Amino acid sequence: MIDKNLERIKKKIKKAAGRSNQDPDQIKLIAVTKTVSPEEIRQVVECGVTDIGENRVQDALAKKEVLSGQLKPEVRWHMIGHLQTNKVKQAVKIFDMIQSVDSLRLSLEIDKRAGQIGKVMPILLEVNVSGEESKFGLKPEELLDIARQISKLSHLKIMGLMTMAPLSNNPEELRPLFRRLRELSVEVKECHIPGVEMEYLSMGMSQDYEVAIEEGANMVRIGSAIFKR
Ligand SMILES: *Cc1c(COP(=O)(O)O)cnc(C)c1O
Repeated sequence: MIDKNLERIKKKIKKAAGRSNQDPDQIKLIAVTKTVSPEEIRQVVECGVTDIGENRVQDALAKKEVLSGQLKPEVRWHMIGHLQTNKVKQAVKIFDMIQSVDSLRLSLEIDKRAGQIGKVMPILLEVNVSGEESKFGLKPEELLDIARQISKLSHLKIMGLMTMAPLSNNPEELRPLFRRLRELSVEVKECHIPGVEMEYLSMGMSQDYEVAIEEGANMVRIGSAIFKR
């Protein structure tokens, strides 16, 4: 089932990329595996997916342990959920990218812990573009200032922006939010902050990834649409 689902998703990604003049090969698919077993992770990697997203440090750690030695070395693990500072020490060890950096305090801890193991951690800044109280993420108006401060830390590297859109039955409603994140990434880019890259725009999930790609996403985080039976 996973292979059929992936095939369908890849076709849709390709079409959406065409509508936004993007090269479909440049759109990175993150398989979000938070609800599935290590065996299903193994299967999705077998089908050619190289990027895995988990939203809890403990779960990722446990699954990585079960799978140790069974996955291709090129597989990358992305932390996509809210990260508590007391989990950072483990997170910097097991993840290849932390997409959910939502405060200066968290980035200071990542810098410290990554420094202790001699690593430069690639990160995305999570922005709360919807303004929903319940959502994590930086406020759009504080983004530039915080990006400038984080850019001075030597053990993490800003690679782009991430957002989580609200739940909606109608992805069209979310289009302005995706557009807003893209505009923000252009604003950051135009500031030419040393060491800050805006290579990735991580937005779009199972319900809304096509609209997100139309608005410029080049990293989509898809779970249920891949693993549904
Ligand atoms: C669960 C999750 C996703 C994937 O959601 P689906 O609707 O299953 O595709 C993407 N991003 C984050 C941050 C998530 O927690």
